[in-house]
Amino acid sequence: MRELNTTLCFTGVVGQEKAATLVSRTMLSGKLPHAYIFKGPDGVGKQLFGRGVAAALNCRGEDAGRACGVCSSCKKFISGNHPDFTVVRPDKGSIKIGQVREMCRSLSYPPYESDLRVVLLEDIHTMRPEAANSLLKTLEEPPPGNLLILTAEASQEVLTTISSRCQVIPFYGLGGAECISIIRQHKPDLDVETANVLARLAEGSPGKALLLEKYQMIGILKNVIAVLSNPEIDQNRDVGKLLIAAEEMVDLKEHLIPFLGLLRLWLRDTLLVVTESTEHQGLYGFGLEPEKPMKSWSSKDLFAKLLAIDKAEKELKRNCNRSLVCEVLLFHLH
Ligand SMILES: [Zn+2]
Repeated sequence: MRELNTTLCFTGVVGQEKAATLVSRTMLSGKLPHAYIFKGPDGVGKQLFGRGVAAALNCRGEDAGRACGVCSSCKKFISGNHPDFTVVRPDKGSIKIGQVREMCRSLSYPPYESDLRVVLLEDIHTMRPEAANSLLKTLEEPPPGNLLILTAEASQEVLTTISSRCQVIPFYGLGGAECISIIRQHKPDLDVETANVLARLAEGSPGKALLLEKYQMIGILKNVIAVLSNPEIDQNRDVGKLLIAAEEMVDLKEHLIPFLGLLRLWLRDTLLVVTESTEHQGLYGFGLEPEKPMKSWSSKDLFAKLLAIDKAEKELKRNCNRSLVCEVLLFHLH
């Protein structure tokens, strides 16, 4: 088999060699599956990669497995309007059954100008069971001339009935240096130290790091940590301070869940400090440690707090009132 320069195949995606190798192999063997599912953390390039695969499959250039970037098909991909490439993404938080039905119907028509129509279904872990079930039949046997590419967040549950009908392609968080370099490509004015903290907080996901930067979550995290870990703040006397911190969190709206991830990271690091683990590379040392002496939390306290975060996350996913969830959470975390 020919050696492929996978970075050229899937332009713009960094550090997903395993995915590139697996997909290139099936593309070159001519044995494409009906559907791929790209599973991995948010913000590591799954959707960008899906677009690259679609472009490579439809490219009119000479090299199989590559998008030349200059043919008529590639130009349409670059300008974002290729008639045989469809993206279905969550509408107000989830992919709805109506979207799935409409997409399935559209597959029965032959592709407009290519041999293969590619449909990218983003974040399918957001589908409720009835939407997922309506996809199963098409997923098992799509009409000829169609390839489905699904993406899903690795930590979220995806029905096995869905993933068992797809070729699963794993995606991973990037190494620190790769992540920092992508952050700085997008934000050239950012100082190295902040890029470092963002990469660490985003756990190798450049997309998440850029989201944290855009919504200034490091600043909010510092404020919340300061309130929570200050032994002088009394839950009964200084209710106002806790409520102000909760309000700051509520303002993040739909980005509240990634923020809870940061609080979880902070508590895990605190747990490592409490249990005197020496092997951690935590938030400490990144200027995120509380200025005042910590409260004396036991590891049992910290486990209870981590559970409170899990509970808050579940409630947010069920669309419970954000203010209420944040207020109750901060009272538990304090
Ligand atoms: Zn091309």
